[in-house]
Amino acid sequence: MSGSVPLLDVRDLVVEFQTPDATLRALDGITFSIAPGEILGVVGESGAGKSLTGLAISRLIQPPGKIVAGEVRLNGQRIDALPDRAMRRIRGKRIAMVFQDPQTSLDPLFPIGDQIVETIRAHLDLSRRAARARAIALLEEVGIPSPAARIDAYPHEFSGGMRQRVVIALALCAEPELIIADEPTTALDVAVQAQILDLLARLCRDRGMAMMLVTHDMGVISEITQRVAVMYAGRIVELGATAEITAQARHPYSEGLMGAIPTLEARTEPLLQIPGTMPRLTAIPQGCAFHPRCTRAFAPCDIIRPALRPLPDGHAVACHLHDPTHKETRP
Ligand code: SF4
Repeated sequence: MSGSVPLLDVRDLVVEFQTPDATLRALDGITFSIAPGEILGVVGESGAGKSLTGLAISRLIQPPGKIVAGEVRLNGQRIDALPDRAMRRIRGKRIAMVFQDPQTSLDPLFPIGDQIVETIRAHLDLSRRAARARAIALLEEVGIPSPAARIDAYPHEFSGGMRQRVVIALALCAEPELIIADEPTTALDVAVQAQILDLLARLCRDRGMAMMLVTHDMGVISEITQRVAVMYAGRIVELGATAEITAQARHPYSEGLMGAIPTLEARTEPLLQIPGTMPRLTAIPQGCAFHPRCTRAFAPCDIIRPALRPLPDGHAVACHLHDPTHKETRP
């Protein structure tokens, strides 16, 4: 990252859920930034807190979930404490969301064109006619064939991949600076997944738009992101350039995720699997939350929680193996 102001700057973000029995900490001190035009991947197993991070940034967390500490800045402007009305203006206009299931973003009862035109007019001062022309141009940009002829079709008249393209067109309506894409290709078959990833990468490049790409799939991360944040049990455990993490992950959990990516060279070897499962929020282990699953755990791991520490090469990792304080007891 350069020294300029990041587009998105998240500092020490904490999200908790208040239940009758306990306060559950779902995000614990999340800190990262995204530069203008950058694609940052956020990866981890289900329950790591990836989607919740996206929802917290866009202030879509439902009660009893709540941001209890930290800051979120967009181009230097603090947005985590904005009144709901001001935040609604930012959401959709400056930050757009693309979710896994296109059905959640499209109303099955209305033609796609109407939905895109309404979204354009909610954010931009355009006549209905100009908004419709813009909608056709957007549909063309995301690869819908014959957009002028298909603009009045209903969502069910499109395939899953084409519906996700329509959702991406919806997200582009107000020229957002940042797209938060949450598992945008998970519901699609493999060939279509690659096309949608290519489309998102091209749009970011052509429009200078940044993207936070949330996925459980390291293969997806290695395709199009420049940097990656690896999450485990509500914390970032490794953050760095995607090329470096895929070539040489430092955190044992990231190593396990990398080992699960199929490669041509490794096709005769079984894929690595991380033993065990992500802990529930009600039972996050003391010390390093990963220690019950970690094959390299040593003396401090079940007692002291490792902080995310920068390494000399710009990587950051939360693991005692990389903390000089524990050099003597390291295996
Ligand atoms: Fe494993 Fe210990 Fe590092 Fe956690 S801190 S990942 S338990 S070695």
